[in-house]
Amino acid sequence: MGTNDIRNIYCIGRNYKLHALELGNEVPEEPLVFTKPSHAVISMDGNTVELPGNVGEVHFELEIVLRVGQAYEQGMDAELCIDAMALGLDLTLRDVQSKLKAKGQPWLAAKGFRNSAPISNWLPYPGAAALAETEFVLLRNGEEAQRGKAADMIFNVSELIKYVGDHYGLGVGDIIYTGTPAGVAALHDGDQLQALWAGSPVGSCSVKLA
Ligand code: ZN
Repeated sequence: MGTNDIRNIYCIGRNYKLHALELGNEVPEEPLVFTKPSHAVISMDGNTVELPGNVGEVHFELEIVLRVGQAYEQGMDAELCIDAMALGLDLTLRDVQSKLKAKGQPWLAAKGFRNSAPISNWLPYPGAAALAETEFVLLRNGEEAQRGKAADMIFNVSELIKYVGDHYGLGVGDIIYTGTPAGVAALHDGDQLQALWAGSPVGSCSVKLA
């Protein structure tokens, strides 16, 4: 499946305690779900990703992304829906988001802009146990910016699939960004980003703020 075949993009906010706290947010009692348009997707294959450079800070958030290969049905073993995983960046216009939050307005302008969802290569889904303990890392210009593992999620993969499937539906081609660990920060023009899964590079891009 290529980036053109992606349908709904669900994203989970505040799914790692340390990240929720670093932005001064409460740790949620149920999953916080938002969406991005499918037009937000762009691959991470060594390409240049153009992003808005004139509306305040653009933050990176590296996340495990799950791909739905079989439609969700209530009562099923939730993990059977997932056929692949990737690492993705949930890029966020943080200053825009802060203004929207203050006004109680939806996050689309901060989270759904074009190229706000870069995605690495797809990997076979390794199962919950292996996923939980495998570390993922974002390198910026060769230096570690974020490191996380699914074991630190507040809501685990099965809970997320069940929640999103029951409330909104999950069909083939849908993907879920599962939340970011701590360490988010603003991108700079020319940054080189590399996503590592279990120590191996799975996606990279350079940033152009225009
Ligand atoms: Zn995120």
